[in-house]
Amino acid sequence: MLRGKNRPERHPGTESLRPSAAPGSAAPGEHSPATRTQSNTEHRQVSSSFRDAAIAPTTGGQDPPSPRCPKPLSLHVRVRVCPLVCGLFCSASPLRLLRTEARGADAVRLPGRRSSCSCVRVVPGSGCRRPHAQPSTRRSEEASTHSFWMLARDTARLLRVCVWSVREENAGAFPLQVKELFSSLGVDCNILELDQVDEGASVQEVLSEMTNQRTVPSIFVNRVHVGGCDHTFQAHQSGLLQQLLQQDLAYDYDLIVIGGGSGGLSCAQEAAVLGRKVMVLDFVVPSPRGTAWGLGGTCVNVGCIPKKLMHQAALLGQALTDSRKFGWEYSQQVRHSWATMMEAIQSHVGSLSWGRRLALRENAVTYVNSYGEFVEHHKVKATNEKGQEALYTAANFVIATGQRPRYLGIPGDREYCITSDDLFSLPYCPGTTLVVGASYVALECAGFLAGLGLEVTVMVRSVLLRGFDQEMAEKVGASMQQLGVRFLRKFVPVEVQQLEKGLPGRLKVVAKSTEGTETMEGVYNTVLLAIGRDSCTKKLGLEKIGVNISEKTGKIPVNGEEQTSVPYVYAVGDVLEGKPQLTPVAVQAGKLLARRLFGGRSEKCDYVNVPTVVFTPLEYGCCGYSEEKAGEVCQAENLGVYHTLFWPLEWTVACRDNNTCYAKIICNKLDNDRVIGFHVLGPNAGEITQGFAAAMKCGLTKQLLDATIGIHPTCGEVFTTLEITKASGLDITQKGC
Ligand SMILES: Cc1cc2nc3c(=O)[nH]c(=O)nc-3n(C[C@H](O)[C@H](O)[C@H](O)COP(=O)(O)OP(=O)(O)OC[C@H]3O[C@@H](n4cnc5c(N)ncnc54)[C@H](O)[C@@H]3O)c2cc1C
Repeated sequence: MLRGKNRPERHPGTESLRPSAAPGSAAPGEHSPATRTQSNTEHRQVSSSFRDAAIAPTTGGQDPPSPRCPKPLSLHVRVRVCPLVCGLFCSASPLRLLRTEARGADAVRLPGRRSSCSCVRVVPGSGCRRPHAQPSTRRSEEASTHSFWMLARDTARLLRVCVWSVREENAGAFPLQVKELFSSLGVDCNILELDQVDEGASVQEVLSEMTNQRTVPSIFVNRVHVGGCDHTFQAHQSGLLQQLLQQDLAYDYDLIVIGGGSGGLSCAQEAAVLGRKVMVLDFVVPSPRGTAWGLGGTCVNVGCIPKKLMHQAALLGQALTDSRKFGWEYSQQVRHSWATMMEAIQSHVGSLSWGRRLALRENAVTYVNSYGEFVEHHKVKATNEKGQEALYTAANFVIATGQRPRYLGIPGDREYCITSDDLFSLPYCPGTTLVVGASYVALECAGFLAGLGLEVTVMVRSVLLRGFDQEMAEKVGASMQQLGVRFLRKFVPVEVQQLEKGLPGRLKVVAKSTEGTETMEGVYNTVLLAIGRDSCTKKLGLEKIGVNISEKTGKIPVNGEEQTSVPYVYAVGDVLEGKPQLTPVAVQAGKLLARRLFGGRSEKCDYVNVPTVVFTPLEYGCCGYSEEKAGEVCQAENLGVYHTLFWPLEWTVACRDNNTCYAKIICNKLDNDRVIGFHVLGPNAGEITQGFAAAMKCGLTKQLLDATIGIHPTCGEVFTTLEITKASGLDITQKGC
C-alpha cells in the first residue's frame, strides 16, 4: 500500500488532529488557560501542557475530573511569606489561583488577596497515567510516586525560581541567602517548604531521584536544577545563573529535537519528564515510489517491527512443514496471503505510531509534522507538507534524523526498484524478487520472502554481512541457500528496464561482474535495493551553524557526550559516526543525553558490547568482537576460540539438518579468558544473545560459563558446555537423522 504523502496521521476511533502551531500561536498540545474546557479529554491534554503546568486552578475546591485518575492527589503546600513573591501557598481553605503564564512567581497571582497567607491546592500535572484505584498496594504506591514526580516536575516548570527547602528554623540561613541573591538580581524567589507539605518526604525522595541531590535546599532556575546553595552561588559567580535566568526569555523551547524516530523521541520524552519545554520536528520525505508513514521513525514504520513480523510469518510457514512430523494432519493446501499479512502488520504499525504520538501529547511535547532545517544559530525553519514555514528557536538541539535507503544511481533504479521503505507496505505480493546487496537488511528481506514461498535471488557485490564475523556470515548464507535462496556473487546491476507494467510488473536487470567483463541479464517481478543507507544530514543547514559532518560518510562526529562541533547541538542514533545503528542504542543514547542535559546526571551511553541479531530464517546473534576484529585487537595467538555445531531438539523429530546451527565464543587468554566475542546461529538467537550480552557486561569469562548450569533442553545451554577449541581441529559435527 502506498500510504500517501505524509498524510495526516489519524487513528480509527480517536480524536482528529489539531492544526500545527503557527509561529507565535499556541502549538498543538498547548492551550492558554482560557481554553480549559469541561471535557475530560480536554482536561487531560490541558494539564499535560507546559503552559498549564501542575498548579491547577481549583474550581470551587474541586479538581476537574480526569478519566484515568478520578481522585487526583492533592497536596497543600505552605510557603513562607516573602514580600518579593506574589504567588504564595499555605494551608487555609482552597482559593482560586489564576495564572497568566507559566513564567515564575510573577505569573502566579492570587486574586483579591494582599495578605501574606493564602492557599492553593497543588495537584499533579500531566494527567495521572496510572489508574488511581489500583488493586495492589504496590501499584498504588507506584501511582503516588508518579504523582509526586509530576508535582516536582511541574512545580519546577511553573516557577521561574523554585527553591525546595524546609522551614526557616530547620533550614538555617541558606534559603535567606539564596533569596537575597535572587533579590539582588531582581528576580522573585519561591521557597517551597517540604516539612510543610503533606507527604513532603515522598516529594523529597522524588526530587532526589530527579536531581541526584539528597539535601535541601534544592534550587531550580528556569526548569534547570542548579543544585544547593553553594552551587547557586558558584553559578552566580561564573555568570551561569544570569544566563539561565535569561535563557527562558531568549528561546521558544529548551530543546528542539529534529527527527521523531527511536533516538529523537526517547530524548524528547525524557527531557519533558524532567520539566523542559520540548518540541519534536518530524517529517518523512516520501520514497521515490511515494511511500510515507507516520511518527516513530524507521524502527516502528519501516524497520525492526514490520521486519520481525514478516520474519515471524515466514517462520510459521516452516513450523507448518515441521508440524506434519509431529502428527498434525491437514488435507487442505496451505497458502500464504500477502495482502492479509501486510494489512495485519500495517495495522499494528499504525497503532504503534499513533501510540508514539499520544505519548508525546501526554508528556506535553510539542510535535510538529514539518521538515526541520537550521537557518541560523539556535533557530530552525520548519516546513510542512504544504510548504508553509515557521521559525522556532531553542537553547539546545538534538539531531536524530536517521538514515534512508541508498539508490544505485543507475538507469531505472528510482523508477522501478523498491527499498525496505516500500516493501513492508507493498499492497501486492512482490513475486520473483531480486534483492541487491548483502547487508543485514538485504539478507533478512531475502530470507522472509523466501520463507513465504517466493523465488528469491540475492546479488552480492563482495562479502556477506560486512563488519560481522565472516565465518558466521558465510554460515548464514549457506543456511539461506539450503532454504532455496540463490546467490549471485561478485555482480552489480548496471541497468533496470521495465518489460511489463503491473502489480507486480516484470523488470529486466542487466548486471556486470566486479571481477571481469562478464555481463548477465535476469527477469524479475520486483527488484529490492538494500545496498546501504545514507544519513539524513545533507539538507539540515548544518553548514550554516558550523556543525561538522564527515565528508566521506555524511555522518556526524560527536564526543563522548553526543555533542557535535557546536556546543548546544547534539546528535543521537543512526546519524552518529562510528556507532552501532540500532534502535536500542538510539533510545539509550537519547534518554541519557536528556538526563545529562536537564537532570543533573552524568551517565553516558556505553557503545561497547552492544548485542545484535540478524533475523535471517536461521537467526544469527552476536555480541562483542568478530573473530577478525578480536585478532586485530588482541592478536590471534592470544585468542581461545571455542565452538560447536548443535542440533536443536525441536529439529530432531522434524528431521531438519543436524549440522547447520553453530555456537562460538572468542576468549582473551591474556585477560583471564574473558569472553570478548559471542556468536550463535540458530533458532531464537535473539533471545539467547540478549542474556549472554548481560553476562558479558558483567565480565563473563570462560570459567564462569563453565560454572554456569545450563537449562535443558534448550539451544542456549550449548554455551555452558563448550570444550572444543578451533585450534584443536577436533570434529564438531553432530550425528543423527
Ligand atoms: C529494514 C530495517 C530493519 C531494521 N531492523 C532492526 C532491528 O531488528 N533491530 C534494531 O535494533 N534496529 C533495526 N534497524 C535499525 C533501526 O531502525 C535504526 O537504528 C533506528 O530506527 C535509528 O533511530 P534514529 O532515531 O536514529 O532514526 P530514525 O528512526 O530513522 O528516525 C529519524 C526520523 O527523522 C525524520 N527526519 C529526517 N530528517 C528530518 C528533518 N530534516 N526534519 C524532520 N524530520 C526528519 C525521519 O523521517 C525519521 O522519522 C532496522 C533498520 C531497517 C532499515
